[in-house]
Amino acid sequence: MNRMHYLSAIELRDAFLKGEVTAQNIAQHFLKRIEKHGSALGAFLSVLGPRVLLKAEALDKKRTHGKPLGKLAGIPIAIKDNMHIAGEITTCGSKFLKNYKAPFDATAVRLLEEEDALLIGKTNLDEFAMGSSNENSAYFPVNNPWNLTRVPGGSSGGSAAAISARLALLATGSDTGGSIRQPASFCGVVGFKPTYGRVSRYGLVAFGSSLDQIGPFATTVADAALVMETIGRSCPYDATSLDFPAESYKLTQDLKDIKIGIPNRFLENLRPEVQANYLSAIDIMRSLGATAVEIDLDILKYSIAVYYVLATAEASTNLARFDGIRYGVRSPSAKNLEQIYDFSRKEGFGREVKKRIMLGTFVLSAGFQDAYYKKAQKIRSLILDAFEKAYEICDAVIMPVATSGAFAAGAIHDPVEMYLQDIFTVPANLAGLPAISVPSGFDSEHLPLGIQIIGPQMCDVSVMRYAYAYEQATRLAGVPPAFADEEP
Ligand code: GLN
Repeated sequence: MNRMHYLSAIELRDAFLKGEVTAQNIAQHFLKRIEKHGSALGAFLSVLGPRVLLKAEALDKKRTHGKPLGKLAGIPIAIKDNMHIAGEITTCGSKFLKNYKAPFDATAVRLLEEEDALLIGKTNLDEFAMGSSNENSAYFPVNNPWNLTRVPGGSSGGSAAAISARLALLATGSDTGGSIRQPASFCGVVGFKPTYGRVSRYGLVAFGSSLDQIGPFATTVADAALVMETIGRSCPYDATSLDFPAESYKLTQDLKDIKIGIPNRFLENLRPEVQANYLSAIDIMRSLGATAVEIDLDILKYSIAVYYVLATAEASTNLARFDGIRYGVRSPSAKNLEQIYDFSRKEGFGREVKKRIMLGTFVLSAGFQDAYYKKAQKIRSLILDAFEKAYEICDAVIMPVATSGAFAAGAIHDPVEMYLQDIFTVPANLAGLPAISVPSGFDSEHLPLGIQIIGPQMCDVSVMRYAYAYEQATRLAGVPPAFADEEP
């Protein structure tokens, strides 16, 4: 079992249930991997060693006593460090919260633990989940296991890199504008953003509250579906949680009678390699029985502009609570109340976060609200309408996840160029749609590419089903980078 990290989460759970491996062996194996490779990748901000070993011991006892075990029994799972685990630090990738001990569990975390998952560590991220490359973490950047000089994507880059390098078999991410799907694509793993409201945001540090969703990273679609069965539940502590029963994810292998929507005009000017990869993914879906139909989503060309007005507006109000009084680090040099607010925010927040607070405050200010914030809201509804219309003639929209494979660390300096990276992922957030990134091949430098399947609201199970059919036909999911081969 010294290569247990190559199993899928479901396979490892089954091995544990059959008694082929103990939970303590599993925890030790993955802790050793994190210890050995964690720093080369920068994927973890904290490792929950003693905690996970205790849990593992309890699970082993439960198993030997024949007590019932949860759906995720014995599976090591990494938690993005913007979600609370009671009693542990939640840094959110920020110096501001370096001493912030969470007083309660995020609902998603609680549900995972109730199903006997092994919470193994907290993963690195762009500060307050703002970024597309993980270079904005206030601690250290994350490297891509496929090529350590490349970024893993962002903002959930730590989670994506950890799964890709098999330092855990499942991870959580949060996706406000693509932060699960884009890093999943860059790191060659599966990443799913559920319908807005499907997973409770309670205990997730808010970024853009009308956009944020928690979702899973995994090496296979079936593993991601297992996490969704666990966390996709309504929650009384989140006012936007959908009052809808938990679903079970039945995955089937064909795409018969499925119409896939191709937004041709919106996708003009793809890079040749991304274009070729996209077309071949469509061919594979066709060979599985799908019919391709052209749809009009031209309006999505405004989605970056709309997203960066709305997301920063929401972030500026959400981050107002970090004032040096209620949460986080208080500036030691402050001499009065005014200075506490002023210095704590100046010293605690990084550059990107400050930039977004300023931009968000500007678009919400009395003189500019109509010109920016309100206009963006109007275009957001037009985007919703366009998707609704598209879903009258198709079951799922197919798009690339990113405009390229993983780029080099330090390569993008221009903030607008960085923001444009999100062009294919933000539309699903603006419209609250479920969307998945599944590995679809490699670019010429052997870096992973992903294909995105976006469904109508509440059709999370269907999206997962289409992704599964595609994955089974390509067998690209679950392919690890050479890095994962490093012992132990
Ligand atoms: N890259 C986007 C941003 O910087 C998305 C972030 C996210 O989804 N958390 O805002």
